[in-house]
Amino acid sequence: MPTTLITGGAGFIGSHLCERFLAEGHHVICMDNLVTGTIENIDHIRDPRFHFIHHDVSEYIYVKGAVDNILHFASPASPVDYLRMPIQTLKVGSLGTHKTLGLAVAKKARYLLASTSEVYGDPHVHPQPESYWGNVNPIGPRGVYDEAKRFAEAMTMAYHRFHGVDTRIVRIFNTYGPRMRLDDGRVVPSFIRSVLNNEPLTVFGDGSQTRSFCFVSDLVEGIFRLLHADEHEPVNLGTEFEVSVLEFAKIIRRLAGSEVPIVHKDLPVDDPRNRRPDLTKARRVLGYEPQVPLEEGLSRTISFFRAKQEKP
Ligand code: NAD
Ligand code: UDP
Repeated sequence: MPTTLITGGAGFIGSHLCERFLAEGHHVICMDNLVTGTIENIDHIRDPRFHFIHHDVSEYIYVKGAVDNILHFASPASPVDYLRMPIQTLKVGSLGTHKTLGLAVAKKARYLLASTSEVYGDPHVHPQPESYWGNVNPIGPRGVYDEAKRFAEAMTMAYHRFHGVDTRIVRIFNTYGPRMRLDDGRVVPSFIRSVLNNEPLTVFGDGSQTRSFCFVSDLVEGIFRLLHADEHEPVNLGTEFEVSVLEFAKIIRRLAGSEVPIVHKDLPVDDPRNRRPDLTKARRVLGYEPQVPLEEGLSRTISFFRAKQEKP
């Protein structure tokens, strides 16, 4: 039975990965310092093969016994979170990646890095293929996240080339679903929180900027496939269904049966204008095909948050 270490395992995506790897028969070690994640995300897991370790992965990591796979998902991930924790974000992307790669060498483990579409910055190429090098402002407020992830990719490739570590890199595009934090500031939980609280939906700028949203189960499937594929260079995962933020606000309002007004606020600095993955490579090397249409995924997510709100 393989042992899989998931850093950031108490976060949104990490908690879904913990469940998936347990379901595949793995021992799972979830390592997290809970800066943006919560025990509530993993509290329901009652499995003797599951272990939680409270630890900041930017510090030296000690794990007893064999580790076969390391999935490095620890990092603040929402613009609000990483602007609140700029130094921790830089540290977990740089030092945290270094420490987890060092552990991979010591344990002879396979390694998968959670990278992001943010490595493309505000892209001049649309949609974004993995071969695009990006347009990132290193000194802007988002630079702490974008550059940490770009460094993490460079470090991962160096450990692959120099130490022969069996590495993978996934570039994740906007992913949503149950267990996001309603107050994490990302557009999906923010809009859902507004409709559930009967408050105006706040669209930044005129809302013409676009994103492509992926339901978490599709992402997890792609990650599982990537870990078992023979591909060391980055692979995009997400969906190709691109929607403007204004249109997205209207979809959420309709799905929630709400008539709250839409108000506008200033666009954050360096907010990418357009974002959509080119999935040609994911299809070719993973046979990846997202299964959950946007409206279905959003309805499930809205139901999750509604049920959570109704809990005494
Ligand atoms: P999240 O905030 O829910 O999860 C991140 C987890 O990492 C949290 O549990 C947090 O406590 C933990 N963490 C942060 N710093 C840590 C540290 N120093 N040591 C140990 N644990 C630490 O966010 P998420 O959306 O689940 O994102 C998970 C990963 O996926 C991140 O690496 C993020 O960059 C990447 N990603 C996510 C998306 C998305 O759309 N959700 C898009 C691109 C990339
Ligand atoms: N956004 C918005 N209202 C919000 C939160 C976000 O209009 O309450 C916009 C944001 O400006 C961006 C898009 O929605 O254009 C997606 O933002 P998010 O923070 O989810 O992630 P990003 O893709 O920017 O990393």
